[in-house]
Amino acid sequence: MVKDADTEKYLYELADNKCIETVCIKRKTGMTACVSTQAGCPVQCIFCESGRNGLARNLTASEIVQQIVFLEKHINRIVFMGIGEPLYNYDSVIRAIHILRDRAGLDFPTDGISVSTVGPVKQLKKLREEHIKIQLVLSLHATTQKARDYIIPGMAGNDVHETVKAALSYSERHNRKISIAYLLLPGINDASSDIQQLAAWFGHENAIINLLEYNRTNNRTLKKAGKHEILEFKKGLEDSGLEVSIRVSHGRNINAACGQLAGKYKGPAQTPNRVV
Ligand code: SF4
Repeated sequence: MVKDADTEKYLYELADNKCIETVCIKRKTGMTACVSTQAGCPVQCIFCESGRNGLARNLTASEIVQQIVFLEKHINRIVFMGIGEPLYNYDSVIRAIHILRDRAGLDFPTDGISVSTVGPVKQLKKLREEHIKIQLVLSLHATTQKARDYIIPGMAGNDVHETVKAALSYSERHNRKISIAYLLLPGINDASSDIQQLAAWFGHENAIINLLEYNRTNNRTLKKAGKHEILEFKKGLEDSGLEVSIRVSHGRNINAACGQLAGKYKGPAQTPNRVV
């Protein structure tokens, strides 16, 4: 385990020596656990270290649930935002959620579970039909097919409009506000046309745009948006009638923030502490 202020990062070594990471963040209102769903990731977003070497394998439902159990803390929020794309390990993730919610299990309130996904359309449509009222976060990050295929290579082939439509359909069916994660990359996805498209998609929907800044990874070619650029983009969205928030990143100093989880053993300073 490594720790920085309010954030702890745990490295778990699995039975087949693959490594994953879990992050625990102390908030004013309780503890959030950010869990992994895959060892590695096939999606390979350009801002993320988790997919740098592709997918090693899917985690089992048990390996997902044990990340929470082994924390031995009173967790009141679970976010599926760690290593891996949850909906590309669909069955295990759904099974894990059922186990977490089960009265004979952790009896965890559904409202406290968020699944963050880049939004493969087929799986989003399937999720819509599930009887699990989880919070959905769509990692959108672009408004054009070209920009999205560049930022999220593993989603090429999924039409961006269809992805948005499927996410909004989930929101409507379950009567839930969805969160649209948008990592601002100057010169790539921060044009006024991006604001217009986001307004066209979400202006009259039950959705909030959550702006993220790039947390440094080994991809040195990406430029981080400055505070001024983020605030300006936020204002543009708000002026277009959208609800907007800015995500506060935790654990940057220990590579525990969004995009920084690598699931790699880094020597004695971070000894794997459990075998799942
Ligand atoms: S952001 Fe998520 S989907 Fe994209 S590479 Fe990282 S873990 Fe995979």
